[in-house]
Amino acid sequence: MIKANYPIQKFNEIQTPFYYYDLDVLRKTLEEINTQTQNCNFHVHYAMKANVNPSVLAVIKNAGLGADCVSGGEVQAAIDAGISSSKVVFAGVGKADWEINLGLDNDIFCFNVESIPELEVINELAAAKAKVAKVALRINPNVSAHTHHYITTGLSENKFGINMSDLDQVIGLFPTLANVKLIGIHFHIGSQITDLTSFQGLCVRINELQEYFSSRNVVLEHINVGGGLGINYEHPNHFPIPDFGAYFKIFRDHLKLQPNQTLHFELGRAVVAQCGSLISKVLYVKQGSSKKFAILDAGFTDLIRPALYQAYHHIENLSSELPTEEYDVVGPICESSDTFAKGFVLNQTKRGDLIALRSAGAYGEIMASQYNLRKLPKAYTSDELAR
Ligand SMILES: *Cc1c(COP(=O)(O)O)cnc(C)c1O
Repeated sequence: MIKANYPIQKFNEIQTPFYYYDLDVLRKTLEEINTQTQNCNFHVHYAMKANVNPSVLAVIKNAGLGADCVSGGEVQAAIDAGISSSKVVFAGVGKADWEINLGLDNDIFCFNVESIPELEVINELAAAKAKVAKVALRINPNVSAHTHHYITTGLSENKFGINMSDLDQVIGLFPTLANVKLIGIHFHIGSQITDLTSFQGLCVRINELQEYFSSRNVVLEHINVGGGLGINYEHPNHFPIPDFGAYFKIFRDHLKLQPNQTLHFELGRAVVAQCGSLISKVLYVKQGSSKKFAILDAGFTDLIRPALYQAYHHIENLSSELPTEEYDVVGPICESSDTFAKGFVLNQTKRGDLIALRSAGAYGEIMASQYNLRKLPKAYTSDELAR
């Protein structure tokens, strides 16, 4: 079995469970993004909600990416990490007044506005500060992302964005709102999208909308197509870096940008997922009536994706090269959903073996909880452990 090349000696000295970030994988991923977007008017904003580990953020900031935020906390974390506020975009259906004020005080690049009442509140709060807020309309394009329904966001039934049927009304409002400036349109159709034709569908819809805005003499400087590019959870060792070439090519080939328009992306998972693993130890191997359970010291409090979205994570026994067997890999938490995988083929496993749950760099550490009064997992980087 091919396995990650991890510093197992060091791992054995650290209290499990913990997150491990391979910063070389992260750097190579960012290099590839920068290679694929250089010499063109493409700007990538890292979706902060995927992972805000300070070491990870520092690498992302150094690669020059902007930040896509969905809360005041994330706006603050982006600025604290040294990301220029001129590269910060702020989305979210329920921005509180203090969060909007934080964005205004920091003169962020753009608010992605999701409703008429929000637009009016931003206008009011900006007026109180004698500022003009730059806004983009988050439009619900009614395009399917062909992904899990919990992470589909671009259908008209979803809570996100402004419906296309309301656009006339929204455009009509702008002349009455002196403290907001419309600079573009924004979309985000879902997450873990592996069928790139979904993005092609989005391009077609944006082209139609561009004609609509032109016909109403509305100039759009910025088009933001959101994030959502998926990664290969099944084969993290073979495909550690997503196919950014194919992804950006979809937009080059199918999106009709107007002269002077800038295209923005908000990638989260595709940037950080493959650099992270949750490292755990086997507490017990228990023989069930018809199967074996490998009971880990990590549970859904450390990595909730399998319990929340029935997500698949590749699992490796880093300590064993013995012949393989099938295990239900479970955590210690008092819920049946605390199961990482059923019938997973692992090298024969015993108490004390180190287990890696791969591709856990996105929506892993950041979603950890203290349910059952468990400790939050710590995190270590390859740079730290190489010292
Ligand atoms: C979550 C989110 C993203 C990032 O999604 P990924 O699937 O991680 O790329 C981008 N934009 C918005 C508005 C989001 O909510």
